[in-house]
Amino acid sequence: MSVISARHRVENLSRKRLGITSRAKNGMEMTIIGYDGEREVTVKFEDGAIVSHRGYREFVEGDIAHPTNTVARRLRLNHINETNRANCGLMMKIIAYNSKTNVDVAFEDGIVKRGITYRSFRTGEVAHPTAPKNRPFPISVYGFTLQTKAYEYNTELNYICKCNRCGLRDVMTTDEMKKHICKGVAYEGRVLD
Ligand SMILES: [Zn+2]
Repeated sequence: MSVISARHRVENLSRKRLGITSRAKNGMEMTIIGYDGEREVTVKFEDGAIVSHRGYREFVEGDIAHPTNTVARRLRLNHINETNRANCGLMMKIIAYNSKTNVDVAFEDGIVKRGITYRSFRTGEVAHPTAPKNRPFPISVYGFTLQTKAYEYNTELNYICKCNRCGLRDVMTTDEMKKHICKGVAYEGRVLD
């Protein structure tokens, strides 16, 4: 087939195929709005989303993914389990990434904060409702009693604290308290708070 007739064929098909509708696997109707060859189909979903460079066969079989199911989902999944330290000293983890202005995080003590911005997550500016920093002493956390702040080092707060199980008195961060294993005391694995 010569270049000219190949082009002619594409143009013929384009005339026939523009405006054809099909149902995507997500249930939405999609319409061909651009056709420049068997592998160069542009479709528009009923909600207005446009996807280009797809195959005509995929279109017919409804096998074209809606962009929110691909790009956005991939973006969301990429952020799940991302961790950062909040300014109060506690670690937080992303448990849902709905959009960059609607993120849910769980603090290491289990408190969940919803609807924060991804930016505030990155900068650590997420207020924990009962963070040690904001609570009056003594504070009970991870089986420890925190008497007072000792010092701040590398942006981490260290507390003068006592283990409620083994009686150890020390200066520790909340992270160290969490990882603390009592020596010589059987407490049946129970975590007191
Ligand atoms: Zn202990």
